[in-house]
Amino acid sequence: MIKTWDLDPNFKYEIMKEPGGEHLTSCFQCSTCTLGCPLTEIIPSYNPRKIIQMSLFGMRSEVLSNPDLWVCLICQTCTARCPQDVRIADLLGAIRRIAEREEEAGKLKIESPRPRFDKAFEHQLAKYGRLYDMGLAMEYYKVKEGSFFKGMMAMSKDYKKFGMRLFKKGKMGVKSMLPEKVKDRGVMKKIFEQMGERR
Ligand code: SF4
Ligand code: SF4
Repeated sequence: MIKTWDLDPNFKYEIMKEPGGEHLTSCFQCSTCTLGCPLTEIIPSYNPRKIIQMSLFGMRSEVLSNPDLWVCLICQTCTARCPQDVRIADLLGAIRRIAEREEEAGKLKIESPRPRFDKAFEHQLAKYGRLYDMGLAMEYYKVKEGSFFKGMMAMSKDYKKFGMRLFKKGKMGVKSMLPEKVKDRGVMKKIFEQMGERR
């Protein structure tokens, strides 16, 4: 049940101040985003339209603690189909950034491993100028498990489970085991500097 005194009428403005969140109030709740989202075949309850509606209502704590915030694949299908140019994938990213700041401030605990993974991903790109799969896995597991040793144990367990499948599908090869720095990393550096300024 929604309790009006728990709602935050400024939440929508908070989101709209974030890069990617600017078009929130253009949503007219047609549901095209949810109907076309490929994730709903795997997670039938996933509903980006509902997250937008809750955000517009001002259900700040419910939205920021919603685990569905972290499952979007950023495939952009919804963004391409939205008749109101809401740019849902970017909008979800804007809400995720607010949630991450809340966690940093100790006001929220994000259960999903996704922010840890995203940070490791960004870090690898900033370091090498391109993705280094093994480095990403090592960094992610270390942070996720709390120590390098525990991380390596968990990683080798998962690799036993998924590694062969990834190899067979050509998603992992010997090349992915070694870092390869791109020559001109200046462009990537600039992108990350600008990202830092916008956060
Ligand atoms: S498709 Fe666009 S307008 Fe329709 S519900 Fe989704 S975000 Fe809102
Ligand atoms: S970007 Fe996210 S919400 Fe949009 S269709 Fe893809 S998975 Fe669904």
